Amino acid sequence: ATHLVWFRNDLRVNDNLALSAACRDPDARVMGIFIATPGQWRQHDMSPRQAEFIWQHVQSLHAALAQRGINLVIHEVDNFDDSLAHLKTFCTSHNVDALFYNYQYELNERQRDAAVEKMLGCEVICQGFDDSVLLPPGSVTTGNHEMYKVFTPFSRAFIKQLHEGLPECVSAPKARGAALETQKLNAFDYPRKAVDSTLFPVGEQQAINQLRQFCRQPVADYQQQRDFPANDGTSRLSAYLAIGVLSPRQCLHRLLKEHPQALEGGAGAVWLNELIWREFYRHLLVAYPKLCRHQPFISWTDNVVWQQDEAQFIAWQQGQTGFPIVDAAMRQLNATGWMHNRLRMVTASFLVKDLLIDWRLGERYFMSQLIDGDLAANNGGWQWAASTGTDAAPYFRIFNPTTQGERFDAKGAFIRQWLPELNDVPDKFIHTPWLWAQKEQLTLDYPQPIVDHKQARIATLAAYEAARKSE
Ligand code: FAD
Repeated sequence: ATHLVWFRNDLRVNDNLALSAACRDPDARVMGIFIATPGQWRQHDMSPRQAEFIWQHVQSLHAALAQRGINLVIHEVDNFDDSLAHLKTFCTSHNVDALFYNYQYELNERQRDAAVEKMLGCEVICQGFDDSVLLPPGSVTTGNHEMYKVFTPFSRAFIKQLHEGLPECVSAPKARGAALETQKLNAFDYPRKAVDSTLFPVGEQQAINQLRQFCRQPVADYQQQRDFPANDGTSRLSAYLAIGVLSPRQCLHRLLKEHPQALEGGAGAVWLNELIWREFYRHLLVAYPKLCRHQPFISWTDNVVWQQDEAQFIAWQQGQTGFPIVDAAMRQLNATGWMHNRLRMVTASFLVKDLLIDWRLGERYFMSQLIDGDLAANNGGWQWAASTGTDAAPYFRIFNPTTQGERFDAKGAFIRQWLPELNDVPDKFIHTPWLWAQKEQLTLDYPQPIVDHKQARIATLAAYEAARKSE
């Protein structure tokens, strides 16, 4: 029998459910395929940094599989529709009997997979796996068998299920014959941008090492450290999780190995809770496909009349708003492809609630820059910040960008990393450099605030209230 593993967002050999299932029959011939779809990626705003990260990991996966006697071919078509025909031809010409893949939960991806199964009919047996989640979407529901709309009860039910049985990790497949020679692969035709390898070293083993290191001690301090962007207090594993170099099961098991009480609320529980947020947003995508269609979860918020100030939008993108914490964060994003979670909340809130710019524009911009871009988490985060989502911040809760800076970067250590033009500003004024410039009668090489927060807040509340009334 010939088994084909179709790799997508699961670029690893360890704990890969589809790969493991394909290798279960020791006599089967196992092959792998990765089909690049640049046209589709463009439509999904995939960032050039994520494209580079995928490319690097496709190469390391090719090498890891070759060592095990499995050939991974890399093909390229334009979009998902084209990948269907391509897969069919490939299956026919290689006499494939069974196709194995791990589910993706975004709408286009699910439609593609349904079409593949239909197209291959009974010629090729298709087997899909819930691999990128701890528990399958649809399996954690209320008493009425509905998806939870609020996180806390979801999380409680989720942990209860984990107590009943943990999802197991599967090991990497054993070698199936002699190692193959690695081929020179052609890079796909999509813009790529260099990834800082000190922040995001390439390779599955590197991701596992980073996970181990984080779970040894930092995870126990996570609750205290996670909100301070100047500290290295979070795992930075999102880039690996987003493209499946690492699985959430690996995260869970490593956490429990180091901190067995994490499921009972002991050390590590707060980090586990973040992994459950990741699950929550994935389960929501499946329960509410409209989230993949640029629609808000709360319908009335679609009536908010957004402002379309192009200059302000560009100032936000470039980190030139005059609010140091917002600007430092945007520059971190632009320079590295990653932004600290607290700052994702602050910058998203600023775009929506201070500039009254449509959250969908911010969501798109983030996707176009993030190395860890993930539709479920990004959409979830944006809808949370914009108060349009499930269990989102209520619309009248509006972050003050200056006090957020004061609370989470008191002395401006993070700000100074990214805004060298504020080097000389004393700590006391680091969040309000305009006041210092005024006091010292200086001109800073840094913009004045592009909005007055107090006035913006009033305007935003009015816009949301008007939208709610017009429901
Ligand atoms: P840690 O704090 O170490 O958390 C561990 C893992 O849990 C993360 O790697 C991630 O996979 C998951 N996680 C943590 N927080 C969340 C969360 N709030 N929602 C969903 N999953 C979470 N995360 C992405 O992976 N991709 C995105 O595109 C993305 N966009 C976001 C946009 C906005 C506006 C907001 C507010 C949040 C977004 N997040 C996104 C969630 C979160 O900011 C990142 O997952 C986190 O900063 C990644 O850093 P880390 O790996 O050090 O996280």
